[in-house]
Amino acid sequence: MKQLAGPLKDHIKTSTLCYDLKPMANGNTLITTFNANTQVTENLEAEKIILCAPQFVNDRLLKNFDRNIDYKAFSYSPWLIANITINELPESKGINLCWDNVAYNTPSVGYVNSAQQHLKLSEDKKVITYYLPLCDFEPAIARLAAYSRNYEQWLDIVIPELEIIHPGITKAIENIDFWVWGHGMIAPAKDFIWSENLAKAKTSIDDKIFFAHSDLSGVSIFEEAFHQGINAAKQVLNGRS
Ligand SMILES: Cc1cc2nc3c(=O)[nH]c(=O)nc-3n(C[C@H](O)[C@H](O)[C@H](O)COP(=O)(O)OP(=O)(O)OC[C@H]3O[C@@H](n4cnc5c(N)ncnc54)[C@H](O)[C@@H]3O)c2cc1C
Repeated sequence: MKQLAGPLKDHIKTSTLCYDLKPMANGNTLITTFNANTQVTENLEAEKIILCAPQFVNDRLLKNFDRNIDYKAFSYSPWLIANITINELPESKGINLCWDNVAYNTPSVGYVNSAQQHLKLSEDKKVITYYLPLCDFEPAIARLAAYSRNYEQWLDIVIPELEIIHPGITKAIENIDFWVWGHGMIAPAKDFIWSENLAKAKTSIDDKIFFAHSDLSGVSIFEEAFHQGINAAKQVLNGRS
């Protein structure tokens, strides 16, 4: 990430939320942003924009444009993430700790060893990042249920599963941080990927505002994010969608 950002650093504004886009009389677009650190609101004028926010954000950002898109057709699944600090990792069945660790017949998709890129061969503590898809109900219901759960209730869900994978792990846990991604991943629902609605959402606005988010592929993977980004960049360079 550092290597990618390096040559562009003078052009990157972090902690900055875009909250409005407006067409201007001269054909450009007025972008209004808010910097959360400095608390400053700023206007920018752009000839071309690549908008790479998810569509439920675009729905709010593009109120001043007539798009006729059914944003409700975009279905996002919620996820729970837990970052777990442990001072030892009790043994488990199967192979030893590796980058991505998945157990059979458990609700989660396992955990990642978050220190996998550290060069030290042995460490006193480890941080494992555990991933739980909240897919037992419709996304809206699962989201509501997730937001109403408190810290202790999440512990009651996560720790018993970790105990199945690594019996005795509870006493090794020093800290757990939970985070709910309410709209974590686009779900490729029926009649979505090849729909006219999705094709419209991918189409630029007057060859000025272009779109690049993985949800436009209908599949939430990094490769699709790259594909959408490259596609939008090509459209800008060619001057058309
Ligand atoms: C729990 C979880 C695990 C995942 N694991 C994997 C995995 O192992 N492999 C994989 O390929 N994919 C994984 N994914 C999917 C992953 O999210 C995507 O592959 C990738 O992040 C999509 O990139 P993106 O650029 O399309 O969108 P995002 O990563 O969603 O980027 C959108 C960006 O827009 C910013 N933004 C939104 N609104 C505004 C605004 N108003 N103003 C300014 N900025 C804004 C957001 O802050 C965000 O940085 C996972 C997703 C989740 C939730």
